[in-house]
Amino acid sequence: MSPTRTQARRAPTAEQNPADPPPHAPEAPFLRVTEIFRSLQGESTWMGLPCTFVRLTGCPLRCVWCDTEYAFHGGERRSLEDILEAVAAHGTPLVEITGGEPLSQRNAFLLAERLLDAGYTVLVETSGALDVSPLDPRAHKIMDLKCPGSGEVHRNLWSNLAHLTPRDEVKFVVADRADWEWAAAVIRERGLDARARSGELRALWVSPVWGAAELEPLAKWMLESGLPVRLQVQLHKLIWGATARGV
Ligand code: SF4
Repeated sequence: MSPTRTQARRAPTAEQNPADPPPHAPEAPFLRVTEIFRSLQGESTWMGLPCTFVRLTGCPLRCVWCDTEYAFHGGERRSLEDILEAVAAHGTPLVEITGGEPLSQRNAFLLAERLLDAGYTVLVETSGALDVSPLDPRAHKIMDLKCPGSGEVHRNLWSNLAHLTPRDEVKFVVADRADWEWAAAVIRERGLDARARSGELRALWVSPVWGAAELEPLAKWMLESGLPVRLQVQLHKLIWGATARGV
């Protein structure tokens, strides 16, 4: 008897391993991951707390002062379940999803949701160049708006500002006075100062490019401005050095 069409479709091929899932089984969600590690949170209002970092691979931007170029390529393809297990093994209630630009992988949104469902406090560090609106509102966005000195100022997606909530923080990494002047103008013109004062934004940060911008003049400009911005140094680089990885 010749097989029906259905029987023919289900017949295993010579190459098929019996351990493989059937070809029509839905694929488990996965992400490309550069590293998962536990450290002290070095930035934001969460600075100083133990935190597990999930660094996803890939970024469509190329900031001239980028300190995580090693996350642009490579990485390891890991299932969502595997990532959740690795995070649980580190045992911190605080988790940051970072990159690279983590939102360049669609499953980053699912990862945030699953971590939140599991009871973690979740920070998502994003460039602000990609749409944040699909992100679970329980997550805390740390949005790094790009100043002209980054070479990527044209990538800022200004519609993202409408999706910021009292949980969220905005950061400007400044290389020089021109960057500071630009950041101050954006803060005023887009009403971020009023939102920070009223509590509609959790914090506004200015952070010097490591090794390129001096702290003292930046502090002076900030004081002169009267803006509700905070000065941020990268705590992890003070402790472990600027090029240390996985700490
Ligand atoms: S967005 Fe972040 S990871 Fe991407 S190039 Fe800029 S600093 Fe590097």
